[in-house]
Amino acid sequence: MVEEQLKEVIRDIPDFPEPGIVFKDITPLLQHPELVQQAIEEFAQQLEGISFDVIAGIESRGFLFGFLLAQHLKKPFIPIRKQGKLPYTTVSESYKLEYGQATIEMHEDAFPAGTKVLIHDDLLATGGTVVAASKLIEKVGGHVAAYSFVISLDFLQSAGRLTRFSEHIISLVH
Ligand code: AMP
Repeated sequence: MVEEQLKEVIRDIPDFPEPGIVFKDITPLLQHPELVQQAIEEFAQQLEGISFDVIAGIESRGFLFGFLLAQHLKKPFIPIRKQGKLPYTTVSESYKLEYGQATIEMHEDAFPAGTKVLIHDDLLATGGTVVAASKLIEKVGGHVAAYSFVISLDFLQSAGRLTRFSEHIISLVH
């Protein structure tokens, strides 16, 4: 099963970026092109029957699989980036981190109102990042159709924070 293979190559880095956090490092996975391909096919399979128009990927690791998946499904890709990186007029959304806050942005003309958007990131932890991304999508009149993650930290029980936007939450590794 692809989940087992993914678990074998994704490595745990204890106490990164700060003590107490176990960082899930997906960089070794990028050295296995066939497994990456299998992961993309698994995403596509799990998304079957869910209707969406575009994929929005979150900087920076959300760009890796988000863009590949968009290409695979022949859908447009929208980058959601950290503050100050996008060159055209943006909409922005701030959210709380454990210490301090973060702001993410998207181009205001990324897609027309009414567009159904799949939000993709590498990992679901507290859900703060994708909740902020969901608010960005809604600010420009889009609808969140689904979420996809390579990894979901289920013990944090954050999926409940996302269901008010979409009940479709898929993850390759739990
Ligand atoms: P959150 O907003 O708490 O759901 O955090 C998700 C974002 O932070 C994603 O963009 C992840 O890349 C990153 N992240 C949070 N926790 C981890 C972790 N344990 N390992 C790797 N990335 C993480």
